[in-house]
Amino acid sequence: MSGIRVLVIGAGGRMGREVVRAVTEADDMALVAAVDRSRVGEDAGRVAGLEPTSVVITDSLSDAISASSPDVAVDFTLPNAVMGNVRTALRAGVACVVGTTGLTEKDCSELETLCQERKRPALVAPNFAVGAVLMMQLAAQAARHMEAAEIVELHHAGKADAPSGTALRTAQLMAEVRGSKLAGPQSSDGRPSRGQGQGAIHIHSVRLPGLVAHQEVIFGGSGETLTIRHDLTSWESFMPGVLLAIRKVRGLRGLVVGLEKIL
Ligand code: NAP
Repeated sequence: MSGIRVLVIGAGGRMGREVVRAVTEADDMALVAAVDRSRVGEDAGRVAGLEPTSVVITDSLSDAISASSPDVAVDFTLPNAVMGNVRTALRAGVACVVGTTGLTEKDCSELETLCQERKRPALVAPNFAVGAVLMMQLAAQAARHMEAAEIVELHHAGKADAPSGTALRTAQLMAEVRGSKLAGPQSSDGRPSRGQGQGAIHIHSVRLPGLVAHQEVIFGGSGETLTIRHDLTSWESFMPGVLLAIRKVRGLRGLVVGLEKIL
């Protein structure tokens, strides 16, 4: 098997199946292992809607790493599983690409320490879609000039975390350029309909069947508003960003957060 050796964690899930497909179809990488707590014993290719790949889904990450010697592990699981997986992979010397959302600042600082200790890199990206990354950058640019802003994020009903990782990252990037100068409404304490305050920026989370992944950043100024909106309608749209991350992660140092850092 030639190319970058890739292990996919969460290979039975919606994003994991897309990653299995994208990696299998990429000329410069090979799927060497697939881990999930569901679909154990099934061929990862078949689960992803492809011809059989001869990679069988297993539920033990450490056994899968020992048996397949991957270069890169890609995690698309759940907020309560991701840290355990990434710890196991980094301790085994495997570079990580993390798409699972819901990581806290404390989680990221633990990963940073682990990356330094193990001298292995990790890339965490709350959103691998190029359009979404541009939306975040445009929002940060607009935040320099507009007085106030709120974020409305809308996702499918099955999304486990709220607010979304993308909304939190957008608010963080906007706050970085404006500091405390970006005006927000008063605290939402006791008024849940005003969304969740992330610094000065309030985030509103909508969860409905029929939605995929959407976000609006609405800016308000004196007598004007500006809306920046991104709509994602297919899970495939994440794959160019995920493949880029797999190609680049081993050249990074420590923990890198955000796809924009490698675009
Ligand atoms: P999903 O369909 O629920 O898939 C998650 C998969 O991980 C499921 O098969 C689940 O098994 C499995 N799993 C859960 N805990 C596990 C563990 N401890 N070990 C191994 N496998 C485990 O979810 P999804 O829609 O693919 O989303 C996955 C994550 O990616 C979410 O956090 C989502 O927010 C995030 N996401 C990120 C991006 C991005 O661009 N960064 C884009 C889309 C989604 P069960 O079915 O048994 O629970």
